[in-house]
Amino acid sequence: MKKIIYMLSALLALTSLCSCSTPVKEAQKTVYAMGTVMELRAYGKNADAALSAAEDEITRLDALLSRGFVNSEISEINKNGGGEVSADTKAILQKGIKVSDKTDGAFDMCIAPLVDLWGFYSKEYHVPASAEIAEILPKTDYNNLIFGGESVNLKNGAELDTGGIAKGYLSNRVIDIFKENGVDSAIISLGGNVQTLGKKADGSLWRVGIRDPEGGLLGTLEALDKAVITSGGYQRFFEEDGKTYHHIIDPQTGMPAESGLVSVTIISSDGAKADALSTAVFVLGKDKGVTLWKNEGDFDMVLMTDEGNIFITEGIKDTFQSDYDFSLITKE
Ligand code: ADP
Ligand code: MG
Repeated sequence: MKKIIYMLSALLALTSLCSCSTPVKEAQKTVYAMGTVMELRAYGKNADAALSAAEDEITRLDALLSRGFVNSEISEINKNGGGEVSADTKAILQKGIKVSDKTDGAFDMCIAPLVDLWGFYSKEYHVPASAEIAEILPKTDYNNLIFGGESVNLKNGAELDTGGIAKGYLSNRVIDIFKENGVDSAIISLGGNVQTLGKKADGSLWRVGIRDPEGGLLGTLEALDKAVITSGGYQRFFEEDGKTYHHIIDPQTGMPAESGLVSVTIISSDGAKADALSTAVFVLGKDKGVTLWKNEGDFDMVLMTDEGNIFITEGIKDTFQSDYDFSLITKE
């Protein structure tokens, strides 16, 4: 009997030793799409297969959604003033329109003519005269987007730009593909937009850093099955006559949004929603953003104002860390 127990415990010791010493397989991939660098890291025995399936999906969605491809679905819809939509475009438009409705159109997928006028698409930057903006403004109103479920109709010369939501939709899809391929631990960063799946191999949570617009880190937070998506004027901009102009445009004024915020991070289990909300809250500013957060209640935020003050919502108070002082936004 003693011998059996001895053997059994030796066996247990051996198996536990095996599980400790066998490192969990890590696979990484870097993909360039949607005008940005995408870093994917997945863990587990199916990680390699999951990464190539994810890369295929990134390539497919880039070709479907990017205005840079003349034959993409979005380009065709823009050319024809409407048309039938695929399942992905349908899902993006549905989520985007919801955010437009909740933000009084601060999030506006009909922003394309303004993005083009400023040269953010062609990178031939240009500060438009107010008359040029006034001429374009009637086109850039999300009410010009008539969406009937399977098809879309664009009124008043409107054109779609899904740049404010596409990367978040894509990060949802990549995480879904990881799950379908049996991966339960992963972290991806699509041009700084991070989404996590499960925990790290050692059982601890992923810790995600948020960039300080001035350089370095604004702070970090733990994320379990969350998208952590940031919009900031520092991400894409040009300078003319000593003034900087960035790529997030206020659809009301046609000008780069100046809401008093320099960085907006949204934390949500839905990447597409987080992406659209980060753009929207950047346009809306802190007070309207906080009202939205109070009404919605299913996401968290990290905001930095142009005076360098940092605000976080109460849902992340136990995990957010920063070298700077920060204030808590509560429901009261
Ligand atoms: P990034 O794509 O740099 O991570 P955002 O998610 O904030 O940042 O998206 C900015 C992009 O969204 C712009 O490049 C443009 O294509 C588009 N965009 C600009 N202003 C708006 C807006 N008010 N609503 C929706 N999309 C916008
Ligand atoms: Mg966005």
